[in-house]
Amino acid sequence: MKFEEIKNVCVVGAGNMGHQIALQCAISGYKVKCTDIVSEILEKAEDFVGSYLAGRVKKGKMTKDQAKEIRANIFFTSSLEEAAKEADYVIEAILERLELKRKIFADLDKYTPAHAILATNSSTIVSSKIADATNRPSQVCNLHFFNPALVMKLVEVVQGPHTSDETVKLSMQFCEKIGKVPIHIKKEVWGFVLNRIISAISDEAMWMLEMGVASFEDIDKACVYGAGHPMGPFRLNDLTGLDLSFDIGMELFRETGDRLKLPSPQLMERVARGDYGQKTGKGWYNYTKK
Ligand code: NAD
Repeated sequence: MKFEEIKNVCVVGAGNMGHQIALQCAISGYKVKCTDIVSEILEKAEDFVGSYLAGRVKKGKMTKDQAKEIRANIFFTSSLEEAAKEADYVIEAILERLELKRKIFADLDKYTPAHAILATNSSTIVSSKIADATNRPSQVCNLHFFNPALVMKLVEVVQGPHTSDETVKLSMQFCEKIGKVPIHIKKEVWGFVLNRIISAISDEAMWMLEMGVASFEDIDKACVYGAGHPMGPFRLNDLTGLDLSFDIGMELFRETGDRLKLPSPQLMERVARGDYGQKTGKGWYNYTKK
């Protein structure tokens, strides 16, 4: 397939990531079909698109006509077959469950034209665990967006051993066309590039706290005022959820047997108290104070 032949995009899953990825593609001129099995999620996604575009018009960032055109580019449906049947590029963003993803990819293989590229947005499931559910493994890769997908520029294009160079090239071009900055990841390593770096910083920060080197507030200050990070690892942890870090740490420990992967004692204490971060009002910092 030539890059110019990519015209129709299908996004599977309209949750946190999917609806914003779909909208980003529609803004960039693609015809997008976005599907989900939960009708309330589809309605919410549709409402979000309407209010986002209205907001852009109000702020003078786009004209009413442009907003209308973008709105007409995006179609929501509960039918996977309907969403997939004309797709040239598919981005799957459903729940992080391997068996579900394999089933979706097997169905996508049936419904999409033979030339279509099938990408997963998964952060932790590499496409080599999914590619053999299709008859086109060379056209399967990870296309890893960051949250919020409308705002974050980076996209990691992860090449598995089965992924062809052509699929990588087309995927990189596709990301550029939708206004993102793609990077080519040549090996399927845990965390890909950015999450791996972030977790190395976070692990070191947790250990320094445990060793009593500095308070978590001061470690955050070091990252913000010394390294120019927008926020320190503890503040970031409050945003992403301490419960998620706990789950990831436990999973890595189960997989590797490495005790250093276990969540740190202070993180465990907070998780046990139900202090998961911003979403519960308290994590490392307290968000209930005026
Ligand atoms: P989410 O739970 O917000 O959305 C998942 C959606 O998939 C739900 O709306 C659900 O109804 C839908 N779904 C489930 N089964 C389906 C099916 N069979 N067909 C169609 N839709 C189905 O999850 P999310 O946070 O958007 O994450 C989705 C994917 O994106 C995951 O693979 C995750 O690893 C990846 N990811 C998430 C983030 C993040 O910060 N949340 C960042 C990068 C990548």
